[in-house]
Amino acid sequence: MSLSEQYRIRTEPHYQPQGNEVALFEMAYGARLPVMVKGPTGCGKSRFVEYMAWKLQRPLITVACNEDMTASDLVGRYLLEAGGTRWLDGPLTTAARIGAICYLDEIVEARQDTTVVIHPLTDHRRVLPLDKKGELVAAHPDFALVISYNPGYQSLMKDLKPSTKQRFTAFDFDYPEEALEARIVAEETGLALDACERLVRIAHAARRLKGHGLAEGISTRLLVHAAQLIRQGASARDACRMALVRPITDDADIRDTLDHAIDAQF
Ligand code: ADP
Repeated sequence: MSLSEQYRIRTEPHYQPQGNEVALFEMAYGARLPVMVKGPTGCGKSRFVEYMAWKLQRPLITVACNEDMTASDLVGRYLLEAGGTRWLDGPLTTAARIGAICYLDEIVEARQDTTVVIHPLTDHRRVLPLDKKGELVAAHPDFALVISYNPGYQSLMKDLKPSTKQRFTAFDFDYPEEALEARIVAEETGLALDACERLVRIAHAARRLKGHGLAEGISTRLLVHAAQLIRQGASARDACRMALVRPITDDADIRDTLDHAIDAQF
């Protein structure tokens, strides 16, 4: 199977739009403009990118960024072998060669000296210099770059350089509004809509505590987990405690407040 086939998304990912982001992404892709998707964790950023790759029929190469990541992890490196050395393309280079959408998830986690390797790919040059190999890769005409980040985690130490930000167009994502979020959870899991609406109400109670002892609210992802546990036979109260509350707080007061919010719904 070719690399391009390997990274292709075959079945339509379930994605419910929050607004006109699908059309706008298509236009950005049409102009090959790099796209940044901002928003809290678990609100649908990655699902959106998967859906767009499917809709545009492009292979998708996803890289989960972390602080130990180096430019070589993105671009590639020489490997030592019995007979000598062999160059191995990194995911960014592969994407540029085969015309994939390269999705750098949580880009701010990467150090700034790593992030700058994307610069020459994001302007009119559309090239990727492989310094160690002495090769200049011209990006395939279908190549596009998408990054995500969570502005909530932003700090002085962890932010994108203004010169990086200015290369991108951007979407501001948030948790879907109430009725839509309940529909999403119902569609994703098969749990009855009424129960999903209750789950969403618990999430709203938690999201009001953000900044008051909770770093992040209960995300759509966690609501999907709770619904899956209920579908497996867990009681709603157990499922909510296990999927919604225990993962996000170690604080006894906040835990009790959220447990009360659960008991008020189920
Ligand atoms: P993020 O990348 O923002 O951290 P994800 O895209 O992984 O979050 O979303 C987490 C989960 O929430 C998905 O796996 C999916 O089940 C659900 N989800 C969130 N938003 C949507 C949406 N608009 N349509 C369908 N599913 C969604």
